[in-house]
Amino acid sequence: MRIKSILGLPFDVLKYEFVEKGFSVLDAKRVYPWIHPKLAQTFEEMSDVPKQVRERLPDFFSLGRPICKILQESSDVTSKALLEFEDGNCVETVFIPDEKRNTICVSSQVGCPIGCRFCNTGTQQFCRNLTSSEIMAQIIFWMERQKKLNAAPITNIVFMGMGEPLLNSQNLFAVLKILLNVKTYNFSRNKITVSTSGIVDNSIIELAKFGVKLAVSLHAPNDKKRSALMPINNKYKISDVLDAALNYYKASNTSHVTFEYLLLDGINDSDDDAFELSKLLRKFGAHARVNLIMFNSWNGSKFMGVSNEKANHFSKILLARGIRTIIRKSRGRDIFAACGQLKSEEK
Ligand code: SAH
Ligand code: SF4
Repeated sequence: MRIKSILGLPFDVLKYEFVEKGFSVLDAKRVYPWIHPKLAQTFEEMSDVPKQVRERLPDFFSLGRPICKILQESSDVTSKALLEFEDGNCVETVFIPDEKRNTICVSSQVGCPIGCRFCNTGTQQFCRNLTSSEIMAQIIFWMERQKKLNAAPITNIVFMGMGEPLLNSQNLFAVLKILLNVKTYNFSRNKITVSTSGIVDNSIIELAKFGVKLAVSLHAPNDKKRSALMPINNKYKISDVLDAALNYYKASNTSHVTFEYLLLDGINDSDDDAFELSKLLRKFGAHARVNLIMFNSWNGSKFMGVSNEKANHFSKILLARGIRTIIRKSRGRDIFAACGQLKSEEK
């Protein structure tokens, strides 16, 4: 029989699995706090769980951690880990500390089926969705590392690693349930951001119920340019994406939606592009933020980034039109841990 990892099960699911295997609800209630937030690595250490139960649990369930194949630290202390799961598939996850925050960037899929032209992950063949336990395992990996180093805990989580989170929405939601649960990690919904390339089906409506922050990868001010960069735009057009983002903002009770805009030299960086973008976002008023992203290059990429001056100029046009705009700092470039650089073809 297959042994199932329970790292990524919300309590109600764990309870169900336990009862199905002949354990009691009380057993589930006793075991759960050991998994989250105590981060127990074995059933053996769960001292208030009856011994017979502790001995029988490993026949059905595991608390197994992925293998960390590579851990790299950048000159700006951003770290990147390549984690290997049971079937040999790997993903990358990134730790980004700064003065006030410890942010981790989490992957949701092995590879990505969306295939954005500027993204290194998009060039890798899509393999599969991660399970909720595999997503949670990345978060636990950094939590345990901070604990071991006696360092400050993780404060922010961004789903901006490999893959499109909304194409793996049920597993994403299971992880959000765990993180937001007051009895486990009690994360504030404002400290969690989900970034999407603009999958605006039912999943984004469901996501709004969690009230986490939403980031939308826009990257172009019109459909012609966006479709050339992001094939997903042939399915969900800019107007669909913006409507869904506005609905998200209203339904989720968040303060704003972030629009990510990757500046690519000669492609989407002209004054006219900035004017057009500001018009698109006008209806959001103060509830849109634009994060201008500097391009992180990778081997074989066909694009060029823009200079700091160009980015400042583009940002000024948006600011002058009342659009809150920042230029996002890029971290961990030297270890290829920055946005769009993650790849894990090891298999
Ligand atoms: N799949 C989701 C989340 C992961 S990508 C999404 O696309 O939103 C995280 C962010 O990195 C996205 O905004 C993405 O467009 C951006 N990105 C991709 N490739 C990049 C690159 N080469 N340089 C800078 N940012 C990039
Ligand atoms: Fe996938 Fe996001 Fe990369 Fe596009 S940018 S290929 S959606 S990971």
